[in-house]
Amino acid sequence: MPITPRPSASALVRLITSGSSALVIAVLSCAPAVVSAQVAAAEYTEEAQALLVNPAVASALQLAEDHDDWALERLIELTEIPAPPFMESLRGERFAELLLEAGADSVWTDAEGNVIGLRRGRTGDRTIGFGGHLDTVFPEGTDVTVRQVGDTIFAPGVGDDTRGLVVVLSVLRALKEAAVETVDDVLFVGVVGEEGLGDLRGMKYLYRDGGLQPDVWIEIDGGGLGRLVSMGLGSVRYRVTFAGPGGHSWGAFGTANPAHAMSRAVRYFQDVAEELTRSGPKTSYNVGRIGGGTSVNSVPFESWMEVDMRSESPASLSRIEDAFLTAMDRGTLEENDLRREGEALEVIKDRIGDRPSGELDPSLPVIQRALATTAAFGIEGTLARSSTDSNVPIALGIPAITLGRGGDGSNGHAPNEFWVNREAYLAVQRALLLVVAEAGFAGPIS
Ligand SMILES: [Zn+2]
Repeated sequence: MPITPRPSASALVRLITSGSSALVIAVLSCAPAVVSAQVAAAEYTEEAQALLVNPAVASALQLAEDHDDWALERLIELTEIPAPPFMESLRGERFAELLLEAGADSVWTDAEGNVIGLRRGRTGDRTIGFGGHLDTVFPEGTDVTVRQVGDTIFAPGVGDDTRGLVVVLSVLRALKEAAVETVDDVLFVGVVGEEGLGDLRGMKYLYRDGGLQPDVWIEIDGGGLGRLVSMGLGSVRYRVTFAGPGGHSWGAFGTANPAHAMSRAVRYFQDVAEELTRSGPKTSYNVGRIGGGTSVNSVPFESWMEVDMRSESPASLSRIEDAFLTAMDRGTLEENDLRREGEALEVIKDRIGDRPSGELDPSLPVIQRALATTAAFGIEGTLARSSTDSNVPIALGIPAITLGRGGDGSNGHAPNEFWVNREAYLAVQRALLLVVAEAGFAGPIS
């Protein structure tokens, strides 16, 4: 979704850095009334305003804008390092170097491939995780060369989520150069396996038993600045394989046909799925990929498909999943009944994806602070539901939020994806303000 940030936001930061704090408060209170019920409680609004006029934080915010050209160069550089699912290591290596250059105290790669930069806080009693995902949806061999037309950058993965990684780096660099010390430790993370069959493996590893388990998670993924994801959209995914003996289309005619079984199964699934998704909590289904067979004149020995189901509600998700599994068996059974010769078909249902859903209480400090820091830039925040890395902590009841990457862009997950550098530094400034609010301002590092 395109964003239309108010020009006053960058003016605000300039005002703050020139020390006109009284004027800043005046500008803030002139912001149009927010009509949504999703307005931060007064204490969080005051906290955000106090941080805006804090000289060290204000100088970090100014640096975030000053580093815009550097951020654009890093975006192009990282976008041109391919990061297909399960093959993020090349991009991860460069991201690790950039974390060190930007000012992390130490940088390491965990056993799953997540690249982590630690910036120590004064007490470090709590740990705030702040990340974007390293992987893109695009397979190995995709041309990831960046093409620039004016201020528009075309390349697969440029927005989702390479720009998210750049926001993470930019916040770290601005905090370091402005010598802002936080109370809590902050982990700046490039997360692996967010997309597709990655199935949130990076986050599942971070939050496993014995994992780092940050106390709060802030993710940069998604577009507009106003959209604050505090609810996880759950999904289950299957790869279903229908397998049989196969044979010649004429000579072995009457052999059970996996493609015919699969077609029946999809039909029976859709009959029920349509009913289930027409009312109640929003639920979706999609047969995304199908394949199999050897030639037009062969009965396939195998046909397969990959299917995605999502729902706002765990109960609805489990209902549509049950309907799906029943339909797969029914399609197989009926094709086996029609068979005139040979062995029966077998159906193998592999559950290849399981993204947990959940919702957080909007009164949690990180959600309140996300609303307050967004409002501080004159933008109305709306709590939203999506499937992102934050699903993992959200399902565990751990405070988490996913914020937009800023700028303008579209065509995510398509080869013609583009991103426009339109006041994109606002996303860095907003994220920086939230990270400092959540981690606590300890003081300028002397
Ligand atoms: Zn993404």
